Amino acid sequence: MSDKTTQPDQLPSTGQPSSTSASPVSSGAESNPEAKVAIEIKDFDAFYGDFQAIRNINLNIPEKTVTAFIGPSGCGKSTLLKWINRMNDIVPSAHAKGSIRIGDLQILDRQTDVVDLRRRIGMVFQKPNPFPKSIFDNVAFGPRLHFRIDRNDLAELVEWSLRKAAVWDEVKDRLHKSALGLSGGQQQRLCIARAIAAGPEILLMDEPCSALDPGSTSRVEDLIYELREQYAIVMVTHNMQQATRCSDRTAFFFKGEVVEEGPTEQLFTNPKEKKTEEYVTGKFG
Ligand code: ADP
Repeated sequence: MSDKTTQPDQLPSTGQPSSTSASPVSSGAESNPEAKVAIEIKDFDAFYGDFQAIRNINLNIPEKTVTAFIGPSGCGKSTLLKWINRMNDIVPSAHAKGSIRIGDLQILDRQTDVVDLRRRIGMVFQKPNPFPKSIFDNVAFGPRLHFRIDRNDLAELVEWSLRKAAVWDEVKDRLHKSALGLSGGQQQRLCIARAIAAGPEILLMDEPCSALDPGSTSRVEDLIYELREQYAIVMVTHNMQQATRCSDRTAFFFKGEVVEEGPTEQLFTNPKEKKTEEYVTGKFG
């Protein structure tokens, strides 16, 4: 490792452009009125064959904010996440209409470079999925793929990412051992380190704590809350306490539509829509 310790809030230089978000959030990010739009979703419909899984979603995801997607199973939360980083490209029946943009980039365009898109939008899954490689090589994977980076800078970036993901102290003496030997909670924080090492603007998390024990859940929740200082984070969760603990804004999905979106506290304590109230008070779900 390099002797030069990098502070977790300073990304070592990789020559990559930083965030491109431009216009202010129009849907009223009361939690952070200065927040700009990181992801703009307009008139978005998504289908599997003839089945319409998502109907006419209009949603602005602000930068430097955790936005929780909540709602009963099967209401389209994961489908939207998958369209945001084009994971549905591998599902032959999946097709969509409308617009999803980050900065000037239209994500749904056929010409969009999906490899670069996935550098800009990191993804963390329900079940930690480290590669069967060393801890170091997991984190170095994205930078090696996307940047020309020398050994010292790479070591520095790996350390920075592991510190930022709050797992450095637990792995610093075993960087060249297999990532598969880590606990589930450590693996999930490693996967977050792997995602942020590639220099994304946005992190998508699909139920990131659902496979973790309560102690690991709490560490990952703290981490998510801290990471919002730098990234736009979208987190699908079935756990409403989790949404209230670590999100700034919440979107409630029902039958493929966003029924209501707003500051988390307001959505849980004073929802505008009856359906939202029924869901957050546990009348169905
Ligand atoms: P959620 O994340 O809210 O649980 P999903 O986005 O996974 O919901 O699913 C929304 C709807 O789309 C569901 O009716 C689900 O059965 C359907 N669906 C999801 N993935 C596929 C797929 N690959 N093929 C066909 N239908 C799918």
